[in-house]
Amino acid sequence: MKNQIFTYIDSQRDALLDLQRKLVAIPALGPDNDGPGEKAKADFLMEYMREIGLENITELSAPDERAEAGYRPNIAAIIPGANPDRTLWIIGHTDIVPPGDESLWDGDPYTLRVEDDLMYGRGVEDDHAGIVPSLILAKAILETGATPDVNLGIMLVADEETGSRYGLGYIAEHHADIFGKDDLIVVPDMGAPDSTQIEVAEKSSMWVKVSVIGKQCHASTPLEGVNSLIAASDFITRVHELYDMFPDNDDLFEPSVSTFEPTKKDANVPNINTIPGKDVFYIDARILPHYDLDDVMGAIKDMGADIEMEHGVRCEYDILQGEQAAPATSENAFVVKKLAEAVKAVYGVEARPVGVGGGTVAAFLRRAGLDAVVWSTQESNAHQPNERARVSHQLGDAKVYAEMLFSE
Ligand SMILES: [Zn+2]
Repeated sequence: MKNQIFTYIDSQRDALLDLQRKLVAIPALGPDNDGPGEKAKADFLMEYMREIGLENITELSAPDERAEAGYRPNIAAIIPGANPDRTLWIIGHTDIVPPGDESLWDGDPYTLRVEDDLMYGRGVEDDHAGIVPSLILAKAILETGATPDVNLGIMLVADEETGSRYGLGYIAEHHADIFGKDDLIVVPDMGAPDSTQIEVAEKSSMWVKVSVIGKQCHASTPLEGVNSLIAASDFITRVHELYDMFPDNDDLFEPSVSTFEPTKKDANVPNINTIPGKDVFYIDARILPHYDLDDVMGAIKDMGADIEMEHGVRCEYDILQGEQAAPATSENAFVVKKLAEAVKAVYGVEARPVGVGGGTVAAFLRRAGLDAVVWSTQESNAHQPNERARVSHQLGDAKVYAEMLFSE
């Protein structure tokens, strides 16, 4: 049966391009990106599902009065398997990010362009890599009349690009019972071009705004003021001391250490002949999960206390974002093993579990106690102009899921 499915998938290049073309032409921008929401795209996808014979479709809409439809569409569709107690979920997101500066694009972002194996257009990868392979696979299963070993669950969620409150966050909060403890959950929203990266863990992340307050005065009489730029500069050069204070290494992650980087710096005075009285800079920290964010914040404030004493300034702190990492999916989880075996069978490579510094929507599922991995084969150029993806990757990934569903 598996061979029949593989042969069918191999014949689907044109069908895949047709689906991509139609999806790219329906921009699904959420209200936070000044768009109407994902309804038009979700409606098209439900229609497509019905056309290929998918019968069991559930809508899990999240109310959002800012969206044109008044809600954000989430869809779950099931193809029953021989064992109905376990489901392989493939979770993609329908929303996209705006094209950005359109002069950087070689063509209209919402018109699919194809050059041999490459497809270009907003969304072709992020996250049609999470939508198209599962639908091609569903088509293959329904067309060949095969019954998978376990259920295939296709979930299409909204709002991934702007926080997931109306997408997977909403489902985790209101419909978590749709997932079973034994389910295999794959979120194809990130990955490596060689298929080898199975994301199982994330670092904690924290963004801190540091305001250094001195006293403004004329630059010709510096003794009358307190130069905040000198104090802030001194502070900025000390931020890397955090690497020594939180030195642990975990080879699961790339990079394997916690990172603490001063990044943005607000403008201070507009003219040269004024001693600045306030300087503001920002720290981006990605911290190994076992460290407590309060301890990191404490260390930053201790550093600031030294700066205050040495320079006669005052420091203020705003935590703009601080999120303790969700518990990791075990490297030995069944979904990790099963997926790695399938990747090996289809692509002939050894995939390995990794941790990343950025956040993914899998965190919502992990917090709910579910084993979820983030995986796909992709060029990894999400959000860029001329976003691109490969037909061969998306057909190949459909086969990987088939490999997970059919033992023979
Ligand atoms: Zn995405």
